Amino acid sequence: MYIVMLGAPGTGKGTIGKILSKDLNLVHISTGDIFREQINKGTELGKKIQSYIESGSLVPDDVTIETVKTRLLEKDVEQGAILDGFPRTVIQAEALREFLKENKPNSKRVAIELDVPDDEIVKRVVNRVICSNKSCGAIYNKETKPPKQEGICDICGSELRKRDDDNVETVTKRLGIYHQNSKDLIEFYRENNALYSIYPKELDIAVNDIEKFLDEYKRKL
Ligand code: ADP
Ligand code: ZN
Repeated sequence: MYIVMLGAPGTGKGTIGKILSKDLNLVHISTGDIFREQINKGTELGKKIQSYIESGSLVPDDVTIETVKTRLLEKDVEQGAILDGFPRTVIQAEALREFLKENKPNSKRVAIELDVPDDEIVKRVVNRVICSNKSCGAIYNKETKPPKQEGICDICGSELRKRDDDNVETVTKRLGIYHQNSKDLIEFYRENNALYSIYPKELDIAVNDIEKFLDEYKRKL
């Protein structure tokens, strides 16, 4: 099964995506994480995309689509994947549909939309800190979900960091870009796939509701 996580920055795509990935035993693929890793490693791709990410703009569709296709052809994706942060434009959604039709013709596809009011999003993002240990990647919030010890991950003890693009200016810009694309994108998934929309207020309840929906969806097919 291929699960697309739709939602503005800071709605919990990463947090919920990672939980679903464990529970459903599907790889979690985050375009943002892939891009940040390329920047940190200083690769050609990283150099090409750095300025887009720092300013909160979208990385161009052709670069993004190529990156995701390459990732989806890797071995661990055989059973499907949780796509977090992709697609973000209708062009990307169409490219994904064509790719899956060609390469994974029998796969089930479903989209989950996380819908959170903008004022709450800004608060979530500016207070967000993330575990620097890549294989952990736990996400905290200085106000709503602080770590037990400031700056240290509860789970693995690594240092917590703020993302460079998690400031008020950039998140406002990212939100604007999200809203420019989201109507068409959600319409695309309403027409083409099963779409489940939820306001994830409480994490546990949200995950539970999504998994219940996925169960029913699987049974119907
Ligand atoms: P958030 O959802 O909080 O914005 P992500 O980690 O998903 O964070 O994305 C960070 C940045 O990476 C985006 O602001 C954008 O520059 C780039 N990016 C990620 N996914 C895509 C995509 N599908 N298309 C274009 N740019 C992307
Ligand atoms: Zn950690």
